[in-house]
Amino acid sequence: MLSVDLHCHSFYSDGALSIPELIALAAERSVSVLALTDHDSVAGVAEAQALAQQANIQLIPAVEISSVWQAQSIHIVGLGIDINDPLLKQRLQQQANARGVRAQAIAERLTALAKPGSLEAVLLLADGDLNRVSRNHFAQWLLAEGHIRNLQAAFDKYLGKGKPADVPMPWPTMEDAINWIKEAKGVAVLAHPGRYPLSRTKMRSLIQCFKEAGGQAMEVATTTEKPDMIRYLGVLSQQFGLEASQGSDFHGPHMPWLKLGIVPKLPEICTPVWQRWVS
Ligand code: AMP
Ligand code: MN
Ligand code: MN
Ligand code: MN
Repeated sequence: MLSVDLHCHSFYSDGALSIPELIALAAERSVSVLALTDHDSVAGVAEAQALAQQANIQLIPAVEISSVWQAQSIHIVGLGIDINDPLLKQRLQQQANARGVRAQAIAERLTALAKPGSLEAVLLLADGDLNRVSRNHFAQWLLAEGHIRNLQAAFDKYLGKGKPADVPMPWPTMEDAINWIKEAKGVAVLAHPGRYPLSRTKMRSLIQCFKEAGGQAMEVATTTEKPDMIRYLGVLSQQFGLEASQGSDFHGPHMPWLKLGIVPKLPEICTPVWQRWVS
């Protein structure tokens, strides 16, 4: 049986594992097709490809781009991209720079909220690279310091939209993110459509806009969704003529509910997006 996980993170974004650790874990879990989808970064892909080949894993070069649709932050996965595409590299560098600027601003806000010292701590978590820093790193620090009881509470109380340490980001529109991916010869996949704070009607409208903007696939079987939602997303993928993807969104031991290679079954009616690369 083919084991397919097309969504996971390394320490090149907000994951905890290095590339050798990630590929070793994928091999241990018998993953046969893997996509490394770090947020706004392809820095780990070349190393992952080399190690995956040795481990007999097919690695699909990928990225998870942060974008905005109707004031909502939306993630677009790009599968099968050319990681050496100069324009894509330049665009991802801009995203990374914006992360660095935001990290400093978030740390200043937390200091003003009587929670000093976060910048040094998140830098350690992000392997010393300010431009890799994610809100997830701040959430981990808030948890470790005992300011909150779980990662979700960090977003609910401090880092989420409109909360005191929220710093708005200049992310591209969803339409632009789709074009960036397609211009780098990749397939644009709407990430975890069920996880945004949207009503069912609004979620349908998101998927419709995604399709109209040239999006090609959507995630259907994602670890955090209940069976009912996965069935519904499967139906929507068919209705909108989108291929279907699946993935764990694995980040590491700090998010133990997301396990590398452990993915719900894709509904039979779906057209698997990985058929493009796997025969
Ligand atoms: P960023 O890309 O820096 O805005 O950070 C967002 C990341 O934080 C996501 O990719 C998730 O890994 C993590 N996260 C965990 N819980 C939440 C939440 N409730 N809202 C947003 N992001 C979350
Ligand atoms: Mn993440
Ligand atoms: Mn995401
Ligand atoms: Mn992700």
